[in-house]
Amino acid sequence: MADAGGNGGHLPAGDAGSPAGTGGGPAPGTGGGGLADGVPVLAVQDLVAGYGEAVALGGVSISAAQGTVTAVLGANGAGKTTLLRAISGLIKVRGGSVLLDGVDVTRRKPEDMARAGVAHVPEGQGVITELTVEENLRLGALIRAGRAVRAAALEQAYQQFPVLASRRRKPAATLSGGERQMLVIARALLAAPRVLLLDEPSLGLAPIVISQVMALVAGLRDSTGLTILLVEQNARAALAIADRGVVLNLGKVAVTAQAADLAADTGLLNHYLGL
Ligand code: ATP
Repeated sequence: MADAGGNGGHLPAGDAGSPAGTGGGPAPGTGGGGLADGVPVLAVQDLVAGYGEAVALGGVSISAAQGTVTAVLGANGAGKTTLLRAISGLIKVRGGSVLLDGVDVTRRKPEDMARAGVAHVPEGQGVITELTVEENLRLGALIRAGRAVRAAALEQAYQQFPVLASRRRKPAATLSGGERQMLVIARALLAAPRVLLLDEPSLGLAPIVISQVMALVAGLRDSTGLTILLVEQNARAALAIADRGVVLNLGKVAVTAQAADLAADTGLLNHYLGL
């Protein structure tokens, strides 16, 4: 059943019950998953994490197939950011596991997670304002071995993000909010990740810019086969481009479903997200 948190009946039976990226069948054209059919690129199982005495994640399970966007939704304090931090090793995992292509990577250090192919873009468009666009991008490529590889990756970034190419010598401080969001995503991609953890990319952006950022995220999935966990307060914008959706509530998974089904379930969105 969809509803690990007691919200039965909101979504059509037959879809709502399965973890993201598994029960709905393989996404079209992706071949179904990770290295082997049926193995999700990212699987989080019964993850427990918190701060001091407080438990922010109380046993969360999510899985994501290759080339899919999973929208991670929930009210303030639901545990969305904590989930991304726990996956990428930024906070201590107290229980459960994180699997990448079926390999247990739980409790690896952030730099090891980055090397394993997990890129984390925290909320807040955190560019280094004193550095130029190019200097910011070069930081993202540091993890890559070999100068030629890094240079080629930089050129590829400029092709993917023409707006950054035209500003490459400008200080990042001169970029708009939307351009900064593009820069932090481009910087993360320079590490050549297989999994991208995106925390609230729409934060502080105008509606038209949010649409552009969401279109960019969908385009990355479609053109590169990247697997994306998209944490968003803006549920409608995220569900419009996502394949699957997960609603967190008080540190637990309340609902997992196809994004389109979630978007259509106004009662559920109202119940958990106040929409
Ligand atoms: P938001 O959309 O507001 O960012 P969220 O769903 O991302 O919310 P988290 O930031 O993961 O939620 O927070 C989950 C819980 O952990 C909340 O109760 C929050 O108050 C608590 N929390 C988050 N960060 C810390 C911290 N650094 N120290 C103590 N408690 C924290």
